[in-house]
Amino acid sequence: VPETADAVLDGLDPEQREVALALSGPVCVLAGAGTGKTRAITHRIAYGVRAGILQPASVLAVTFTNRAAGEMRGRLRQLGAGGVQARTFHSAALRQLQFFWPKAVGGDMPRLLERKIQLVADAAARCRIRLDRNELRDVTSEIEWAKVTQTVPADYPAAVAKSVRDAPRDPAEISQIYALYEQLKRDRSVIDFEDVLLLTVGILQDRHDIAEQIRRQYQHFVVDEYQDVSPLQQRLLDLWLGDRDNLCVVGDASQTIYSFTGATPDHLLNFRDRHANATVVKLVRDYRSTPQVVHLANGLLSQARGRAAEHRLELISQRDPGPEPVYTEYADEPAEAEGTARRIRDLIAAGVPAGEIAVLYRINAQSEVYEQALADAGVPYQLRGAERFFERQEVREAGIALRGAARAGGNDSLLDDVEDLPAQVRAVLSTKGWTTKPPSGSGAVRDRWESLAALVRLAEDFARAKSGATLSDLVAELDERAAAQHAPTVQGVTLASLHAAKGLEWDAVFLVGLTEGMMPITYAKTDEQVEEERRLLYVGVTRARVHLSLSWALSRAPGGRASRRPSRFLKGLRPGSGSLGSVGVTGSGGIERGIAGGRRKPRGPVLCRVCGATLTEAGAMKLMRCEDCPSDMDEGLYERLRDWRSEQARELAQPA
Ligand code: ATP
Ligand code: MG
Repeated sequence: VPETADAVLDGLDPEQREVALALSGPVCVLAGAGTGKTRAITHRIAYGVRAGILQPASVLAVTFTNRAAGEMRGRLRQLGAGGVQARTFHSAALRQLQFFWPKAVGGDMPRLLERKIQLVADAAARCRIRLDRNELRDVTSEIEWAKVTQTVPADYPAAVAKSVRDAPRDPAEISQIYALYEQLKRDRSVIDFEDVLLLTVGILQDRHDIAEQIRRQYQHFVVDEYQDVSPLQQRLLDLWLGDRDNLCVVGDASQTIYSFTGATPDHLLNFRDRHANATVVKLVRDYRSTPQVVHLANGLLSQARGRAAEHRLELISQRDPGPEPVYTEYADEPAEAEGTARRIRDLIAAGVPAGEIAVLYRINAQSEVYEQALADAGVPYQLRGAERFFERQEVREAGIALRGAARAGGNDSLLDDVEDLPAQVRAVLSTKGWTTKPPSGSGAVRDRWESLAALVRLAEDFARAKSGATLSDLVAELDERAAAQHAPTVQGVTLASLHAAKGLEWDAVFLVGLTEGMMPITYAKTDEQVEEERRLLYVGVTRARVHLSLSWALSRAPGGRASRRPSRFLKGLRPGSGSLGSVGVTGSGGIERGIAGGRRKPRGPVLCRVCGATLTEAGAMKLMRCEDCPSDMDEGLYERLRDWRSEQARELAQPA
């Protein structure tokens, strides 16, 4: 813990310090990835608290993910400013809702809906609309979209017609299912994830007394990742603020990746329009990544278009040079996963901790082959991220059961004759179908069992550490841990979607599955949607401190048709992708191997595979270029080139 308030400022550069010292009035920080935005606001809060200017309980810091919130709380504690609330919009709203529900509505707050998709299925069945599994999933996400964009069922058809979306079913049908879904929730007295914000906003809007109460408690607001604030979240923020303007926001327009919630970087970019007296600070020094990673990130952004791109800030790396990013083309997905696992094993052997490595993909369904490959390679990994342990359904259900039992105290017939704490926990969990013996085999049932077993172990450790602890003490401890996201799991390689990786960083990042169709994803059709995909890749690239790997596979299954192409976003970035003429690099080992290998020098003259001319090195990047070939390749040439590439990739996939 820094000894004085001033010492809290020591780890900041002059611009970050300016942010930390601007403790009243509106503040807006516009800056690229890795420039220390999150660090600046964390130190700002800590400085304010340590200097006695901010009351810890009067500050509400809003971050984008629970993990980020947990990290911020941890950091604040280290800086001697524990007790500050750092939460997501949802968790802050949920807490407030629980607090004022009895007064605003009366009775207990409804439970949070656990199986949304099941309720949507019930609603569809009652409307006599048949949905297969995929349609059910799509309709559910349509309902979610409607809710986050504050569209009521009756307005859904018009809203979807106006948006760039394709409704997965007749919009009138979706509207009908949506209306009934809302009705079923009311009947069953449950609320869904989206309702948490909607209800909080509704109550604060209608009930001035409650809004005043919240405003008396919170005087200072800090919002991280402000470029992705949705209109509903902005509304909530406005209600929290009232007519005050002690608001500090930080964001990067180039990292807007949640447009589907209605988020736009406009709130960030137009901050001065709403707050004329705002202190606006820009940061450009990138403290996170090596010049090589930063160069790639800048290159990617230089191709971006649209409003966000107009406001991009070129990053300047503050770190020592590191290895070049590695681009790898594989014949098929399992080969990509195996190759990735092999490199990860090498990195770990070279001393990089597993917890400092991440594999990031576009959609969660891509994780499976990586899980398999990492398991085969004996590499520990965490799929859901340690922080998500308390969000697992079985763990939440167990938490509800334990809380209920703790509340019932001595009056539970179930617990009457058990006395130690772990035995009580086992007894309660047995009502959730938990047995002390692990189920045979693997899969979801086993996962569920493992989670509950971890919970029992936690209870055992707790009982050992705190003799005489009761079930209520344990429940309080669990809540505390859930809030701090301290999960009882080992640190392994993180497998996560690009969206989930926002704001985080690792020494080594593997961006996998970078093919057309995945990146950009097939359903990104309009220019704006494609731009958002590019920003998503930018987010991925900028998660890496030192090692960055980008890979793709030409076919899904071994021996399958090599029908996939590398992502268009890589064009002009990876050596050899700028024009047809640069194929030579691929021919000479541009298909990279090894962790920090960088580009391998070709042996002897390299011939263009298209026209046969000798390639020459060109430009600062020393790309191999063909002077004779056109810079844009036509489809036919591309086909040939691709066939040839997949042949190369298959060769490389052979054991040496
Ligand atoms: P993102 O846009 O990805 O959220 P960010 O702008 O929030 O990035 P941070 O996560 O705050 O960036 O900082 C990136 C890394 O750089 C962190 O490891 C942080 O500790 C480090 N860092 C930031 N500022 C400084 C500084 N002044 N001196 C040393 N290290 C710094
Ligand atoms: Mg950040």
